[in-house]
Amino acid sequence: MDEYGKSLALSEIVSHLDSAESFADIVQKILEIMGDYLKVSNLGLMTIIDGDRFEVFYEWTRDDRVEILERASDDIWDDTIVYGEDIYIMSANEHVGKREFLYTKYGISALLARPVVINNKPQMVIVAADDNPTRVWDLSSIQFITNVVRMIESIILRKMSNRSLYSSHAALKGILDNMGSGLFVVDKNTKEILFINDKIYSLYKKDLIGCKCSDFAMCGNPKYCTDCTRLQHNVGHWENYDSRFMRWFDVRTSEITWVDGNLVSLFNMVDITEKKKYEKRIEFQANNDFLTGLYNRMRCEADLYEVISKSIEAETTGYMMFIDLDNFKHINDGLGHQHGDMLLKLISMGLQQIEGISDSCYRVGGDEFIIIVQPEQSDNIDRIIEDIMDMFNKPWLINGTEYYSTMSMGVVCFPEDGTDVNDLIKKADIAMYDAKKGGKNRIEYYNAADEGLSIKRLDVEKNMRSAIAIGGMEFELYIQPIMDAVSGECIGGESLIRWNSHELGFLMPMDFIPLAEHLGLIVMIGEYFLRKACQVNKKWSDYGQEKKLHVNLSIVQLVQNNIVETITNIIKDTGVNPENIILEITESLAINDMSNMKKVIDSIKKLGVGIALDDFGTGYSSLSYIKQMNFDIIKVDKNFIDDIASDDYAQTFIKLITELSEKLGAKVCVEGVEDTEQIKVLKEMNINMIQGYYYGKPMPYEKFQEEFLGIRES
Ligand code: C2E
Ligand code: CA
Ligand code: CA
Repeated sequence: MDEYGKSLALSEIVSHLDSAESFADIVQKILEIMGDYLKVSNLGLMTIIDGDRFEVFYEWTRDDRVEILERASDDIWDDTIVYGEDIYIMSANEHVGKREFLYTKYGISALLARPVVINNKPQMVIVAADDNPTRVWDLSSIQFITNVVRMIESIILRKMSNRSLYSSHAALKGILDNMGSGLFVVDKNTKEILFINDKIYSLYKKDLIGCKCSDFAMCGNPKYCTDCTRLQHNVGHWENYDSRFMRWFDVRTSEITWVDGNLVSLFNMVDITEKKKYEKRIEFQANNDFLTGLYNRMRCEADLYEVISKSIEAETTGYMMFIDLDNFKHINDGLGHQHGDMLLKLISMGLQQIEGISDSCYRVGGDEFIIIVQPEQSDNIDRIIEDIMDMFNKPWLINGTEYYSTMSMGVVCFPEDGTDVNDLIKKADIAMYDAKKGGKNRIEYYNAADEGLSIKRLDVEKNMRSAIAIGGMEFELYIQPIMDAVSGECIGGESLIRWNSHELGFLMPMDFIPLAEHLGLIVMIGEYFLRKACQVNKKWSDYGQEKKLHVNLSIVQLVQNNIVETITNIIKDTGVNPENIILEITESLAINDMSNMKKVIDSIKKLGVGIALDDFGTGYSSLSYIKQMNFDIIKVDKNFIDDIASDDYAQTFIKLITELSEKLGAKVCVEGVEDTEQIKVLKEMNINMIQGYYYGKPMPYEKFQEEFLGIRES
């Protein structure tokens, strides 16, 4: 129960203390306030008769509930009241025996009884009962009841002796000091302070009685005091911030009759600083992302709406960038959420440090960020983009290890590309997705002309999910031959996926693999595809052809906990000779969690399967990485082959790699060989394997079998 509500309920009860109404009327009102606050089903004031039973003096019930206390009074007395001055507490989770009895007979699942002691003798008992089967009495409710009972005791005393408030002043002060809120009483005419409770004393650290309230600006601000009319009003209610105490107060005034019979003002000040802080926090949470502290999507949309309107009005141009991390999923899945969270925080901090955008970075999804470049900064757009790129080209240090995480960015400008917030975000997302398809770690500006051409991301996602659901047969196995550089014989091929989508047509890997990785769907697609490749290779063996078949393995698959198990099962199920299968993993996604990666790769190698490092030369792998990982084959990226005939650097690089590979016992395969000239140079260089359009483009596996292995299936 909240302290604020409690304090309000108590102050409401206090306002009835000095009432001239009958005791019964007052009790009725007090029980109503109590019942509402405590949220119980029944609440009663019981009179103790002759010390051995009680009668209901008044029973309050919630929403027309049955008057259980009336009915159960004898049993409650007999079975539960430990006679004395102590409070009796039975929560729904204790006193099983008694509770069972009261519960089955009357539906009472929790009970609390507090004697009203007059002249050292219990005279009455306040009983709270609840039919809620999970009701547990917390400390705050117990304190509340205790306070109310003290007030009732003071009312009874006063009524008995028929004396004024003054007579029970000591008792009352005890209660008022305990109320949690600050109370003070002021003479309406002279502004003289007649009473303060402990709370007010502890704020001002001096006894203010006899002083003028205006001398202390007790409502919080001296400006209010100059022509204060508050004392003239009978009731008032406001909130104010008191800078002296650095606290917020909810202040209520009411008119009461003071001990001398004069009408005075009672001020009740409830400290609502925590509530205010909480509200601030809620507001912050509504606008900010709690992990990174950046603004969130909601705030982004609101801000974007404003800048767009402004830029239209002022005829200026601003930019918006949509950033999506490449393969964030593998850091998160492979290294754990803590690392992922840490990375997001570091990136957020980095973005905020870039000049010109520090206050307009938003995290709008798991690994998605939006940056608004205000029109005033639009001259700096190139520099800002460069700064962001630079940031992502450097490793992030997480727990002492360096990680690379690249991003893909889509950029739109407003109002040129659009004036509607959602439309702009969608366009930036399309541009971002084009950047991803273009090979990740790139930037793409939105281009309206291209939009019609590029397949919609959502369409791809939807259709990909259904393609998986129907068993994966839309994913087709293409194979590109790999030749022995010396003999010119075919030693096998690389499996390359194609998606022949019923809805979208024929899709190349770049049109859907990045999204499949992003969504984690690559795990299922990859498993299906590996199984298919193994089945085909097994068949070759059955035909007496032991040829190698390379299969690409996404890093997202590699970081799955059960990847070794998955591969084991596929080998077992298909009966393939594991030595014919080479898994290609790309190095452009440099995962630097070497020790873990090495463990996984070593376990896969134990199955007999070979491992190739794909796209070598495009990513971050260092030579030491290659040494540690024990690769069987290193595939040199097409980039180095393109100008091999004329480019000295490329030649030196490839020589270096071949020498190193020889020492490590790994073979070298070059990709993307297209013409005779290249073949000539490569043959002089001790290259083991060659792959490229020169020998054959990727083709349906049936065609490959026929042309290169002479296998014709009927
Ligand atoms: P990759 O693993 O580097 O595959 C080689 C790519 O280079 C293939 O493109 C191939 O068609 C192309 N290529 C081969 N020789 C030449 C040549 O002489 N000239 C030119 N211009 N290109 C050549 P493809 O089939 O479009 O595949 C692109 C990428 O998609 C692959 O690059 C691989 O990273 C990914 N991929 C393909 N299939 C799979 C798969 O089953 N699983 C996963 N995870 N990724 C796959
Ligand atoms: Ca490959
Ligand atoms: Ca490659």
